[in-house]
Amino acid sequence: MNSTAENLKENALKILKKYFGYDHFRTMQFEVIEKVVQKKDVVLIMPTGGGKSVCFQIPALLFEGLTVVISPLIALMKDQVQGLRANGIAAAFLNSSLSRDEENDIVQDIVNKKVKLIYVSPEKLMTQDFYSLIKELNISLFAIDEAHCISQWGHDFRPEYTKLKILKEFFPHVPIIALTATADKLTREDIADNLNLVEPEKFIASFDRPNLKLEVRQGLKKFEQIIRFIDQRNGESGIIYCLSRKSTEDLAGKLKKSGLKVTFYHAGMASDARSKAQDKFLKGKVDIICATIAFGMGIDKSNVRWVIHYNMPKNIESFYQEIGRAGRDGLAADTLLFYSFQDVIIYRKFLEESGRKEIEEAKLNRMLEYCEGVSCRRRILLAYFGEHLENDCGNCDVCSNPPKRFDGTIIAQKALSALSRLQGNVGMNMLINVLRGSQAREIFENKYHEIKTYGAGSDISFQAWQQYILQLLNHGYIEIAYNKGNTLQLTEASQDVLYKKKQVKMVNFSEVEQKQEAKVVATLTVKEQLEMELFSLLNEKRKELAEKENLAPHLIFSDVSLREMVEKLPIDGADFKTIQGVSKEKLVKYGLEFSHAIGLFIEEKLSQKKNIVGSSPKLTYFYFSIQKLSVQQIIKKRGLGSLTVIGHLALMYENGKNIDIHKFITPEELETILSVINTCKTEEELTLKSLYFKLEEKIDYEKIKWALAHHARK
Ligand code: ADP
Ligand code: ZN
Repeated sequence: MNSTAENLKENALKILKKYFGYDHFRTMQFEVIEKVVQKKDVVLIMPTGGGKSVCFQIPALLFEGLTVVISPLIALMKDQVQGLRANGIAAAFLNSSLSRDEENDIVQDIVNKKVKLIYVSPEKLMTQDFYSLIKELNISLFAIDEAHCISQWGHDFRPEYTKLKILKEFFPHVPIIALTATADKLTREDIADNLNLVEPEKFIASFDRPNLKLEVRQGLKKFEQIIRFIDQRNGESGIIYCLSRKSTEDLAGKLKKSGLKVTFYHAGMASDARSKAQDKFLKGKVDIICATIAFGMGIDKSNVRWVIHYNMPKNIESFYQEIGRAGRDGLAADTLLFYSFQDVIIYRKFLEESGRKEIEEAKLNRMLEYCEGVSCRRRILLAYFGEHLENDCGNCDVCSNPPKRFDGTIIAQKALSALSRLQGNVGMNMLINVLRGSQAREIFENKYHEIKTYGAGSDISFQAWQQYILQLLNHGYIEIAYNKGNTLQLTEASQDVLYKKKQVKMVNFSEVEQKQEAKVVATLTVKEQLEMELFSLLNEKRKELAEKENLAPHLIFSDVSLREMVEKLPIDGADFKTIQGVSKEKLVKYGLEFSHAIGLFIEEKLSQKKNIVGSSPKLTYFYFSIQKLSVQQIIKKRGLGSLTVIGHLALMYENGKNIDIHKFITPEELETILSVINTCKTEEELTLKSLYFKLEEKIDYEKIKWALAHHARK
């Protein structure tokens, strides 16, 4: 890097720390910032949660003039602006949700240069008023968020976006950065063309989201499975995607009855009810939202910790986008997909009616391959988006618990032979009943008990049969006749199994899942238990503050920050400053309150004899430095010996805390002890006792402790 680049990096890092509380740039962030600051046009394609925003926010702060951010999502705009303001950045937004007065105020602020970033909707941007306003101002940068909305090919085309083409014409010298998380190639190409960008620098990040755990299960007893799943996750936020509007309501109702805080969301609700539901979820008033795919666009909640698909999505694009809403903060998040025979029936039926059967069928098949995958799921996903992953990911159910394939030829033969004798007249349930030798009335009415394979599969459970038949269906040995009441039919391929002894490989997924679940139910250690308690305490604090300021809780602190607080137990401003995501503004605003809560938590736990490693000296320091108690008072309060308490303080001093040690030892005494310490050659000589005798028993242990701490202080 040459000196200007180094200079820029230094400045950019300073801003990153001061306004966002982070110490390092993530992959690509600085490279993008550098180009933008050089006034180059940039296209940035990065998955959700990759950290796109700082790529234009930091240049905005470095530039002299105003940065205009175009965003299509009104709800999101407000959230982002609030987030920036919470960090002390002068941001505002203009869109149709504001009153005339509010709008005038903001325009005044812009004219008076009190705003660094102005967020606008594309409609607003194109109004004569706004154009006349910004024409007269020093505009540094246009940032176009959700830039895929400009492409007709994309899944979210917005006609207003096509008008953005004229920005380059009206403001030829202002750089444009276009940002999106879309993975679709055609759309990506459209962005640069449709915006008339000038030799844009393109940055395309990997679409891998290693923090998302991937898991697929059979859709059996889903409700019980979901309850167990949520139980293990103690109030974390999650989304459950359902196929139908009705099922979002039903499932939410059932979960509510089980005592969970949950709401639902779908496109059939009035827009008012929809925003209410969304708001409840964002603000943490409910933990769970059951929703159709209508939910999620424009949800900027960084701490969604899990996503469940109650039904299989219809293609991998949708699936990836939906699970992408989890773990935007980069912390571990879980995704769980249920798939079942019913889903396949429904989608196959849609296909028949869609008019785009070939494409959609191919996409559906890729989705099924993912569900039935017996190799690393992340590799399957990324391969779909044209990315090659070098190694297995280690964070999917297949990696952690590889399913074994076994020779399922006999099972297949039994099922296909029964089907052949049933002459294409039955659906899945009846086929299984025949195979299992059921005594149901219908069996006898239809004389199915007389066929040769009746009861031939009674050793296999109903549920296991369901998954084997689904596998036969997915591998093309069975098909569904939609025009004949969803009955099952043989295919050409099934003839090879029936008559040519073709081998069929199968997987017993239930067995795999049982193992998987058993792994999860491990009990927490005392340490983990305490960490969880402290996390919920800080989470409550965050909610409480958010409520007061009418903000989403993750805008106060992200989960990343809270986790780091749990790990490092910051109990004063100096500690607090080192926590990721603690900007200057937030340190001043919330530092004291959070560190106080942590101090009191340690106090409570120690009084219950639950020791968090390293917390005892911290508590002493907390009393001394924050609560301003004297050593005598601390001795009394904690019921500890004087040497122990001094030891705690000396240790904190040694670790860099500012304590005025001359309250405990005079400069002369310190000098004397240090001169003896400096003559010591071995560790043994540096013990309290040895030093005590070297000093002819004239200086007490406590003072020697201080001197030792001074000697070792970092
Ligand atoms: P995107 O817009 O790409 O979905 P965001 O810009 O919302 O992603 O960033 C996702 C999360 O990552 C946010 O919580 C953000 O504060 C955090 N983040 C961004 N840059 C960094 C960084 N350099 N270090 C740590 N966290 C970061
Ligand atoms: Zn894997």
